[in-house]
Amino acid sequence: MPKDFLKGASDEYDVVVIGSGLAGMTAANILGRAGHRVLLAEQHYKLGGMATWFKRPGGHIFDVSLHGFPFGMIKSCRRYWTEEIAESIVPLKNIRFDNPMFSLTTSYNRDDFTRLLIERFGIEAATIKAFFDTARGMNFYDDQKLTTGQLFERFFPGRPDVVRLLMEPIVYANGSTLEDPAITYGIVFSNFMSKGVYTFEGGTDRLVQLMHDDLKASGVDVRINCDVEKIHIENDRVTGVTINGRKIGCRAVVSNANLKYTILKLAGKEHFDRKFVDDAEAVRLNNSSTQVYIGLKPDERVDENMGDLFFTSTAKEFRTDLLLSKDVTSRTYSFYYPRTRPQGRPRCLIVSSTNANFADWAKLSDEDYEASKQELIEGTLDHLNNYIPGIRERLDHVEAATPKTFQHYTQHVAGASFGTKFEGLGVSRALPEQVSGLYHAGSVGIIMSGWLGAINYGVIVANDVDALLMKAPAPQPHAAE
Ligand SMILES: Cc1cc2nc3c(=O)[nH]c(=O)nc-3n(C[C@H](O)[C@H](O)[C@H](O)COP(=O)(O)OP(=O)(O)OC[C@H]3O[C@@H](n4cnc5c(N)ncnc54)[C@H](O)[C@@H]3O)c2cc1C
Repeated sequence: MPKDFLKGASDEYDVVVIGSGLAGMTAANILGRAGHRVLLAEQHYKLGGMATWFKRPGGHIFDVSLHGFPFGMIKSCRRYWTEEIAESIVPLKNIRFDNPMFSLTTSYNRDDFTRLLIERFGIEAATIKAFFDTARGMNFYDDQKLTTGQLFERFFPGRPDVVRLLMEPIVYANGSTLEDPAITYGIVFSNFMSKGVYTFEGGTDRLVQLMHDDLKASGVDVRINCDVEKIHIENDRVTGVTINGRKIGCRAVVSNANLKYTILKLAGKEHFDRKFVDDAEAVRLNNSSTQVYIGLKPDERVDENMGDLFFTSTAKEFRTDLLLSKDVTSRTYSFYYPRTRPQGRPRCLIVSSTNANFADWAKLSDEDYEASKQELIEGTLDHLNNYIPGIRERLDHVEAATPKTFQHYTQHVAGASFGTKFEGLGVSRALPEQVSGLYHAGSVGIIMSGWLGAINYGVIVANDVDALLMKAPAPQPHAAE
């Protein structure tokens, strides 16, 4: 008999949350704290979604998406999670760049960028101030016709080096491009520039464990290995879900699964207006990623002057297609020193990340796929050897992940690392207007992506769900006559 991962679960909840990414867990936690009966169903064998980690022999623990997030995480985690989580958020010390246009180290905040732009790039202080103020002033209701490329052209015409400095980390952070609306750049860039880049001390495993503990304290019924196969809808209203073949009733569903998958597969096109389905189908997915994970031998150390985040590129110019190409020229290295996990065994780990197109990897035969993975590893080690001589002799473990890996573990269509492009946000927000009780929370529209965006979107959607449930309280069981 296969194990029943729903053993002891109720037949009915107020809300079922599909997926335990940061948005799903945050929404579940807020709704649980508000006293609603919440089931959190995760198809994978561990919580966290893309906020994940894995262990390898020799004491190595690799973080997949813990590379950096803005200062705003502290406030969100303090309010919607716990003080202990908020207090473990610490700044990264050094961010480095090395490409054919420039090499530099920065603390990655407005003051230091202003200094660099004046001293290294010869830009007028007034222009820099005007650019920062414009980016800071952008909001969701602005004109969205201006692209990020046009924004740069307005302030820094003919300066591809400046564009590269300003844009490269953001492309890496959320997959946005010069062709996307400028607002998607402005908001995220300003978030980072306010106080620099932060990380979670103790690693993703510790964070997700603390979140799991808090979910339990909030009364959320948390279940892993629970694949939601269907969202049931009757008379334009959510009535329940099918999980591992079992039907469970509920008045609201928050789907943290991929937006398109939620609408087109889990719910089904037949429940939505034609125009809404067209809009959902037209939503573009964000790109995926490749990563190479390198664990050094237990007694090997990397000098901390290497920095925490290191943006490297061998491409002469900065172009979106080059950033995504399978013929890798851009690599962002995250260095994890023993201080990353003070509670663990002291280890130095390096993760190299590159944005990637799913199609480039999905079309390969099994044999070519394995060969391409090996090529990715070897190319990365050759490149890293320029910065850490003798890397091959010093490492203990190395392996690679591709867009197919991300799809496999999260069921994200095309392994999208950052959900959808900008237009996904409107479709996600309009979902409950189509079907009462149906919500989506998860990486959409670049702004609502990354760790902070996902958490904040979970908060927004939880408030919407709470309002719905409070409007129509659950039917009370009849008192005994
Ligand atoms: C390589 C990489 C590097 C990144 N680096 C950073 C970074 O440095 N900083 C940063 O802020 N962000 C980073 N991100 C992005 C960040 O990790 C994501 O934006 C964020 O974690 C997404 O959270 P989410 O809530 O949208 O859900 P996801 O993490 O996408 O989780 C969705 C969950 O739903 C589950 N699910 C799907 N379908 C079902 C179903 N039918 N039934 C049950 N469960 C289901 C999945 O298994 C998954 O657990 C990175 C992402 C990647 C891939």
